Amino acid sequence: MEITKENRRWLDSMELSHPIVIAGPCSAETEEQVLKTAHELKKTDTNVFRAGIWKPRTRPGGFEGVGEIGLPWLQKVKEETGMKVTTEVGNAHHVELALKHNIDILWIGARTTVNPFVVQEIADALKGVDIPVLVKNPVNPDLPLWLGAVERFKTAGISQLGVIHRGFSTYNSLHYRNKPKWHLAIELKKEFPDLPLILDPSHICGRRDTILDVSQTALDLNYDGFMIETHIDPDNAWSDAAQQITPSQLTTITEDLRIRDENSTKEEFLRKLNLHRKELDLIDSNIIEVLGDRMSIAKEIGILKKSENVAILQSGRWADIISKMVESGQEKGLTKDFIEEIFKAIHVESINIQHKV
Ligand code: PEP
Ligand code: MN
Repeated sequence: MEITKENRRWLDSMELSHPIVIAGPCSAETEEQVLKTAHELKKTDTNVFRAGIWKPRTRPGGFEGVGEIGLPWLQKVKEETGMKVTTEVGNAHHVELALKHNIDILWIGARTTVNPFVVQEIADALKGVDIPVLVKNPVNPDLPLWLGAVERFKTAGISQLGVIHRGFSTYNSLHYRNKPKWHLAIELKKEFPDLPLILDPSHICGRRDTILDVSQTALDLNYDGFMIETHIDPDNAWSDAAQQITPSQLTTITEDLRIRDENSTKEEFLRKLNLHRKELDLIDSNIIEVLGDRMSIAKEIGILKKSENVAILQSGRWADIISKMVESGQEKGLTKDFIEEIFKAIHVESINIQHKV
């Protein structure tokens, strides 16, 4: 797939002086709630108003969206505030209704991106219409699946594209509702630098107090903007109450974000430096994770050896490991001394762990 500047013209043509802000409630609930929220957002940095009309709920019984009657409310938002409007479409029928009501931008939800049949159905329903489509990441951390959905729209003739990073579902995450797994988005950005990349901190955080922090990370990684759930009365929202913020809280967040929009060479230098530092931080934490995994396997081996009364140290095997690692290290431009030093340290730690067993 080839992504060029042409594919981001929906964003570039807005000529924004700051990263794009898409804001609005998780769900459209009533006409009054939609319009009140929109008028409040008009006073903020918001460029595009979002509201879910059809809500994909994890379990039946939750609020599943107002449906078609909410679409004229979004048209009113356009007329009264001049903001563009966007909503989620989950099937061909939604597409037909959204187009009929002049919705400006469509987004594909995380639970839809996982299903190539449905993505294809939506892409087919859009044949001949060149409306911008933003594809949220699938709920599972699968980059090809995410890109595959973008590719289906591209192939169907949609030339205005973007992706929304909303985090990945995990069984038990204390801190995040959906883990960011930043390295996936960074990989995507490296491969498709012109594809607009938007952060949805609301669904990553699942709570209000961490939205600023997560958004700052995205900004440091050169994201193109944000989609943030905003409600006039968040505590009483009909869906995702814990993560929604008021329009004035949104203003506080956008003011606190250190947005670097100057283009001086120094700014550019600092931005690149920062990006590389973030990348290093991510790699370093992967190294720790891998070392942890390695040591727990070493411990298992220690237990096995003990049960069979086998000595911990088998020096022949260790010499083999070192020479293999030195060889593959050299292919990557790493010196023999460096590899030997690192693996000596790993070996010592492994032996210590096995001694403790
Ligand atoms: C939403 O944006 O309200 C939504 C349902 O998001 P996601 O598809 O990311 O869960
Ligand atoms: Mn939501």
